[in-house]
Amino acid sequence: MTVHALEPQPLAFRVRPQADECFDSWIDRVAAAHETTRPALFRHLGLETGLASMDLARGTCGLANEQYFAVYQMIGQLAWAVQIEPQQVEGTFLNVEASAVLPRRQRQYVCPRCWQQAWQDGRAPIIRKEWILRMSWRCRHHDFPLCRLPAVEGMMSERARRAWIDRALAKAENLRQGLDYRPRLIEWNAEGLDRLVRASRKRCKGEKQAYVDRFQANLFHFARDRIAMLALAHSRLGKATWGFERLVSLDLPEHPRREAMTLRPPTPSPRSWRIGKGRGPLRRYDGNVLDLVMTYAHLRVRRDAHGSS
Ligand SMILES: [Zn+2]
Repeated sequence: MTVHALEPQPLAFRVRPQADECFDSWIDRVAAAHETTRPALFRHLGLETGLASMDLARGTCGLANEQYFAVYQMIGQLAWAVQIEPQQVEGTFLNVEASAVLPRRQRQYVCPRCWQQAWQDGRAPIIRKEWILRMSWRCRHHDFPLCRLPAVEGMMSERARRAWIDRALAKAENLRQGLDYRPRLIEWNAEGLDRLVRASRKRCKGEKQAYVDRFQANLFHFARDRIAMLALAHSRLGKATWGFERLVSLDLPEHPRREAMTLRPPTPSPRSWRIGKGRGPLRRYDGNVLDLVMTYAHLRVRRDAHGSS
């Protein structure tokens, strides 16, 4: 194509997107392979530097005309840089509403078992497209809760990654054992994720649609432990998340202060909220409601201020 006639050489390391890998995961691996940053990589490829800071998880989805063309060109350029078809780059995008995707800084949830396997097989660990969806909280290959990666500058070192995998496995195992999933909700969750990944616009019926409405654009990321909250919401103790869901759906002026405790579900009584069933030591999930109210209110104020500026 003439567009590429004056371009530099393709990249030295042809890092290709893996099946189901999300855009950020792939492009960060490309940059890391060349020991550089995304802005420097884009500059090197003659791309507009502004593109490097754009949220590209949804590709050209929802973009204004001028941005659309810049991103469209970028796709061709990146594909050429690692010698793949543009469709393979497009395959890393999620064609969904913005509300279905986690906020950018939160797209750091992965399955420690998948990462352990990748490490054992000598493959690069990736963040799957499905894991950046708000509805996502467990790995369907391993029936295992996802874990948040630690915040680090650039890529994690091999050693740090191994240490993290060990810690994350223990933590997720602990959470998994204490839960008693509701199979129907787990099934609907998987179905909902498949629909989003495939960009199906078909509506569900009845209770299933109610489930989708409740979880597709959920606000559980406002919780300190999003995964545990979602896991609870899909377990037989689903009511334990009732107060939280109610809280985050309120408008700021309606926000309770000290009376936050009234956000508890009517039954069962809070004392009986616990993870696990049967005999043995009982564990309680501490939702930390007041902390949550403050955090949420703070975020809401900031968001509103940002919106009106
Ligand atoms: Zn997994």
